[in-house]
Amino acid sequence: TVRLRYAPSPTGHLHIGGARTALFNYLFAKKHGGTYILRIEDTDQARNKENAEQGFMEGFRWLGLNWNEGPQVGGEYGPYSCMERLDIYQQHTDQLLASGQAYYCYCTEAELEAEREELAAKGELPRYLGKCRHLTAEDRAKHESEGRKRTIRFRVPEDKVYSFNDMIRGTVEFESNGIGDFVIVKSDGIPTYNFAVTIDDALMQISHVARGEEHLSNTPRQLMIYEAFGWPQPLFAHLPLILNETGKKLSKRDESIVQFIEQYAELGYLPEAINNFLALLGWSPTVEQEIFSLEELVEQFSFDRVSKSGAIFDKDKLAWMNGQYIKSADLDRIVDLAAPFLQSAGRIGAEYDRAWVSQLVALYKDGMLAVSEIVPLSELFFTDGVAYDEEAKAVLAEETAPLVLKAFRDKVLALSEFTAETIQAALKEVQKETGIKGKGLFMPTRVAATGQLHGRDLNQTLALLGREKVAERIGKLIE
Ligand code: GLU
Repeated sequence: TVRLRYAPSPTGHLHIGGARTALFNYLFAKKHGGTYILRIEDTDQARNKENAEQGFMEGFRWLGLNWNEGPQVGGEYGPYSCMERLDIYQQHTDQLLASGQAYYCYCTEAELEAEREELAAKGELPRYLGKCRHLTAEDRAKHESEGRKRTIRFRVPEDKVYSFNDMIRGTVEFESNGIGDFVIVKSDGIPTYNFAVTIDDALMQISHVARGEEHLSNTPRQLMIYEAFGWPQPLFAHLPLILNETGKKLSKRDESIVQFIEQYAELGYLPEAINNFLALLGWSPTVEQEIFSLEELVEQFSFDRVSKSGAIFDKDKLAWMNGQYIKSADLDRIVDLAAPFLQSAGRIGAEYDRAWVSQLVALYKDGMLAVSEIVPLSELFFTDGVAYDEEAKAVLAEETAPLVLKAFRDKVLALSEFTAETIQAALKEVQKETGIKGKGLFMPTRVAATGQLHGRDLNQTLALLGREKVAERIGKLIE
């Protein structure tokens, strides 16, 4: 059976890289009718942040990447966070200690640092050289009596090659001799990532492990642990790095890119757009298509179409994609999303005229790149007066402008109803009366009422502005 998991460490907010990893795991699991699991890898207690786990789950719920097993939903293989599995790790540690595949290490931080420096001076990679590998019972007793802290290290087999078949990279090999005996249990008794992740993946019967490329060098260590317990290896996929627009590895501090899922939610991005965009970050479909629903992604996804090389995060493409989704979304949904932005900008109150706001959103829906843009886009509806810039002034200074504006204002005041249709008819009449048409007619009207040279449909814009505002704005210019 196909079982995949995403195993975030609750050390911060849900990052776009983590969301992509989760998405790829989710897509593959769903494509193969398998199970998608969420597991919280909270062994790094110093880095754990309160509420991070909650934030991750909210982020995934928002994206629609619902998990079949994990926190909140349970499952047969729980518990689903490491700190609730300490007894399980303990049993496995005891087993390795008993078989001699693991041993206690009493080296101090200063000793380890000296060793690293020594290796660096010889131009060798840092690794543990095995000082505590062969301690006698006496040595151990002595260290214990001195009250030295102890860790537990895995005894790395010598002269072996560990290889695995990566679904993205093909065969990957590591020589065991380059890998020193590594810590599996820290001095506080908490297992390290490599130890916990392997036990959890094995016991939860994870069939495919897909994670970021930065974990590639951890994989041989994990393979050794699978081997030590006689467990079958899962298949692996190491996803390419995400690069910024200059082709450099994206750093969490890079401010040119919005990097956290909740920020996108706050900006008025739609989750479908984020999923669609993240799916294409390293993966390419076989079909000529850019817009994919989550169901379509499930259908199309495969690891063999994930690239080895880094994927550039093109934020303009994401914005474009979001615009496409906003455009095709139901108006009501976008109104629901837009209202809070208008409210927090003080444009509308807690109680508002839904019909009017719907028309306002409808006017701008096609063309918005994020729902938050409703605030700047619709500013002209909420100001008392209008500021005219040089270009606007030039339009209003044209010879025929006052003629048009006077005639139009009279019509505006006389209309029995003020709607897009009656406004259109009124403008036609102004054209007949003045003999001025096209740009000469529409430009001064638009500029006078909105201050802008370009905008959305003129009749609808004026209708939404309302008779009072339109008459007043034009009146100020002709009196
Ligand atoms: N907790 C690790 C991370 O957040 C998970 C790595 C893995 O999937 O093995 O990167």
